[in-house]
Amino acid sequence: MAQIRIENVRKEFGAFVAVRSSTFTIEDGEFFMLLGPSGCGKTTTLRMMAGLELPTSGQIYIDGEEVGMKPASQRDIAFVFQMFALYPHMNVGRNMSYPLLSQGMSKSDAQKKVIEVARILGIEDILNKPVGGLSGGDRQRVALGRAIVREPKAFFMDEPLGALDAEFREHMAEELRALHDRMGATTVYVTHDQLEALQMGDKIVVMNHGVVEQFGKPQDIYDWPATKFVAGFIGSPAMNFLDFEGMIGSGANSVDLSGHKVTVPRTRQGAKGKLTLGVRPEHIHFNDKSEYRGSVIATEYLGTTQIVTLKTPNGEVKARVPSHVSVTRDERIGLEFDARTLSVFEADKGHVLVSEANEGVLNHG
Ligand code: ATP
Repeated sequence: MAQIRIENVRKEFGAFVAVRSSTFTIEDGEFFMLLGPSGCGKTTTLRMMAGLELPTSGQIYIDGEEVGMKPASQRDIAFVFQMFALYPHMNVGRNMSYPLLSQGMSKSDAQKKVIEVARILGIEDILNKPVGGLSGGDRQRVALGRAIVREPKAFFMDEPLGALDAEFREHMAEELRALHDRMGATTVYVTHDQLEALQMGDKIVVMNHGVVEQFGKPQDIYDWPATKFVAGFIGSPAMNFLDFEGMIGSGANSVDLSGHKVTVPRTRQGAKGKLTLGVRPEHIHFNDKSEYRGSVIATEYLGTTQIVTLKTPNGEVKARVPSHVSVTRDERIGLEFDARTLSVFEADKGHVLVSEANEGVLNHG
């Protein structure tokens, strides 16, 4: 069990800055996702927490103790890699007992521990099998088993399911999460897959170009993105951006979108100039009475819902509506937005304006 805190952590590789002044806390027992596109610095952040990379500046604490300069071997953590490297010449049981024996545990105690963990993972039947012929899922379970037997304070996982096909990946994701819920050990998990992060994480930190854009609970991040980057990266289809030029006074609760008044959550912050209204596809509704119209460009059938792409005076939007709603190409449709769920972003830096709806959840680190 462990609380992990990183404070103003920065990592440079020569002149290149891979991680810029990151600060966030992972609470004891959390399943914590480091999410972002390729190259954003998530693996480097994980490696610094694990002690495989030294920060250029800043502090890392595990249970309140500064560990920035402590090597991985002294941090009492376990790393689960993407390519679950197992010892090919040893059977499953030996693969799992190896870390315990090399720590000096007796053979009989190691065996007891291995059987206990194998039960949790449902692999007690294959302990005598060579690892060579195992399926991907069993290899993953053995790799996890080898990490779990040591009872580390925390698990670090770098895209552990990245090599698996989609269906199996989903199954293993559920299994991992269930295992975590049973064991309760702090887990830090790197992924570039926003859906995986939303589904599995207690908390998510979203990174971009070495910067922590936001961290918080999945639903808070989905509902109230702190930046346009987060809004566009999370959700599928992504949040729509309706660009407009105008102003919104501090305390106001509407914006003028091409001559149409759109109600938004009351702002705490005024802004003027280039602004963007952010609206999730499921928060756009068709309403004949609305004078704000879009013409249909395309539809995509998804079973119970369909995604309708429309051209509006402020750019293209995608609306998620029930499949039984019939639409035809080029049809002009009145659009209405859920007022309670809208975000307004300033265009240049892409920060969201603080409003009465999002003020409690905007953690930038
Ligand atoms: P990916 O999912 O592609 O691994 P990531 O978000 O995990 O992406 P990092 O692996 O942390 O990204 O890398 C961040 C940046 O730092 C990348 O541009 C990478 O090329 C660079 N980088 C990482 N390790 C080193 C290194 N040892 N030397 C130089 N540059 C590095």
